[in-house]
Amino acid sequence: MARMSGRQFDRQIRRRYRRRFGEAPDLPAGPARLAESRKAEIAELAEALAGEHCPAGSIEPGRIARAKRITMSFGPYGEAFDGMLEHKAGRFHLFCNLDRVGRGDAPRARFTLAHELGHYYIDEHRLALAAGRAPAHRSLCDHESPNLAEQEADHFAANLLMPGVRFLDKARAAPPGLAGVISLAKAFGTSLTAAAIRCAAADVRPCAVVKWSWNRYAWKWLSSSTFRARFRRTVEAPEKLPPDSPTARALARQAPPQRGYFQAGTTASAWFPRVKPGEFRDVILIEQAIPLGRFGVLTFLYPEAGKYQLGDSADARTDK
Ligand SMILES: [Zn+2]
Repeated sequence: MARMSGRQFDRQIRRRYRRRFGEAPDLPAGPARLAESRKAEIAELAEALAGEHCPAGSIEPGRIARAKRITMSFGPYGEAFDGMLEHKAGRFHLFCNLDRVGRGDAPRARFTLAHELGHYYIDEHRLALAAGRAPAHRSLCDHESPNLAEQEADHFAANLLMPGVRFLDKARAAPPGLAGVISLAKAFGTSLTAAAIRCAAADVRPCAVVKWSWNRYAWKWLSSSTFRARFRRTVEAPEKLPPDSPTARALARQAPPQRGYFQAGTTASAWFPRVKPGEFRDVILIEQAIPLGRFGVLTFLYPEAGKYQLGDSADARTDK
């Protein structure tokens, strides 16, 4: 069957994006780096759907698909995609690949269904699919695509499964760091990576999330308070990490303690090369690192004091 490639689909989405928002950005790999207005619009759409179809309890993307009469197949489809949305004879059909996402109700499967629903509910995506000849769109839901359409669908999925108000309520009550991420992932039925990105994006507390493949840096996501405090560039070479650091130990495949992750105190200068040792921004950070099976390692950093406490003096000193 002729299938629209990811690139063709992305080209169509970028054209439609340009018409509404001006030039479509060249996005680095990683979680959604879209225009703030676009992110807000997609988050609002996803949260409204969550409220309409799953007003209480957990969000069930399958229920939303059925309500829209989108048919679904769950099966072992090899390695080429996590999910796929196909448009045929006026109907949409969703494939969920159990070879890659685990069970049909696993966090990764739920995210994949939510991501494909994003391709359906975001008007530009649905129209591009419906306008194509025998089109289908394959997705890898790994937060690592530089593709505009994929980042929009990932952003939709995160906000569908962890809708704004409900997420903020629980995130504010959760403990800081990975303990909180783990409890939020459980509460919302998502992967740790999706929950960690959502925590950083919501900026409930200042933090930075760095994702590693087993042999290299993959991407990072800074909460807006971390970015504003000018903690921006991070270490990206695994060999620059102290060998006894939580991240280096996790990347060396050492077995973590029973809670599931390594943890130690560190300093901002150890992680942010532009911060000089001993300078006023060289605050104490908590570094936590958790192995994610075949997906690598996730590092979570946050100030031990809960905030950066740089205040006005930070601006005065760096603006000189
Ligand atoms: Zn996709």
